[in-house]
Amino acid sequence: MLFDVFAHSFFNPEPEFSAAELLMMFHFYFVGNPEGIVFDVASGPFSTAIWQPMAAVLERRGVRLRTGEGAVHFARTSDGRHRITSSKGQVYDVDACILAPSVPALQQLVAESPGLGHPRGAAPEDPGAGHCWREQVAAQTVTARFAVWRLWLDRPSAPGRAPFVGTTGLGLVDNISLYPLFEDESRDWAARTGGSVVELHAYALPDAIEEPEIRADLLRALHELYPETRAAKTLDERFLLRQDCPAFRPGAHPQRLRVDTPDPTLYLAGDFAHTPFPTALMERAASTGILAANHILHHHGAAEEPLWSVPPRGPLARLIHRKGLRHPG
Ligand SMILES: Cc1cc2nc3c(=O)[nH]c(=O)nc-3n(C[C@H](O)[C@H](O)[C@H](O)COP(=O)(O)OP(=O)(O)OC[C@H]3O[C@@H](n4cnc5c(N)ncnc54)[C@H](O)[C@@H]3O)c2cc1C
Repeated sequence: MLFDVFAHSFFNPEPEFSAAELLMMFHFYFVGNPEGIVFDVASGPFSTAIWQPMAAVLERRGVRLRTGEGAVHFARTSDGRHRITSSKGQVYDVDACILAPSVPALQQLVAESPGLGHPRGAAPEDPGAGHCWREQVAAQTVTARFAVWRLWLDRPSAPGRAPFVGTTGLGLVDNISLYPLFEDESRDWAARTGGSVVELHAYALPDAIEEPEIRADLLRALHELYPETRAAKTLDERFLLRQDCPAFRPGAHPQRLRVDTPDPTLYLAGDFAHTPFPTALMERAASTGILAANHILHHHGAAEEPLWSVPPRGPLARLIHRKGLRHPG
């Protein structure tokens, strides 16, 4: 049961999730981490609580942000810089680049940019490190679909409910969040209308299940667990069914992409990239972003950002020593 919950926390079905990855998570979240796992949430919508304030900080430091505009093609300028064409037809020439999209978006970018990943001066048709890297990108896979369903209901949840519960073995549902209990915008809406905002998540969905079946199963679980919602009218809803989370299949480790690439002016960041220390999900996305930025800072002779993680050795390593076994690392 625990393995299933953990594999689902990383959006992967348990039978397809690497045991090594699972052990690394246990180390990261529990045995290697004296503070234990702490759930923290933003008290407002991400847009106003995180992204807009962060954008303001960056812009005050001279950063130009271009949201709503994707990179669609990479080429080289005559002096070897990256020439990026955007979905709005804009062209940007840059010295160095960090690519941090999802796996399918990275694969599309690489497929449509034959020179991407080759070191400066190498021809796209040259065999070599750039060619291997491009094959490695193409070999990446995503795991099964996930669904997120947010419902605005016309009545409140029962008093004493937890803001968030994780579940397993109750059908497709993996967790239920009651937004008015932790987020200001939902709390205000619930106070004004007497309603509630409920979010249901289902991860690692089997391929054969279609959207109507997913909705029906999630609603059944909500009604069973929170009977006060049975008679509720749905005033509004948002339903997402997506498939872009990275897979971590057994045996796939040698194919994992690293932050650095054969091109010393091109780096990767994201929750799919390998780190030399335990990380996952948002921590991995943030850590690889910092590692990628540090490569570029180093190149320019600027101070690098320190990066903290849990100690790499856990209590099991001590047991291995006590038994006189050799520790591989
Ligand atoms: C339902 C759900 C719940 C989650 N809960 C948690 C949690 O509780 N804790 C946790 O740690 N993690 C959680 N995660 C995982 C976490 O959201 C991801 O690990 C994290 O967002 C990965 O960050 P990323 O930067 O690698 O990729 P993303 O967040 O996917 O960002 C990629 C970005 O690239 C952009 N992009 C794509 N193509 C292009 C292009 N061509 N040009 C420019 N931009 C492009 C996309 O628009 C997107 O903004 C959850 C994920 C989901 C789906």
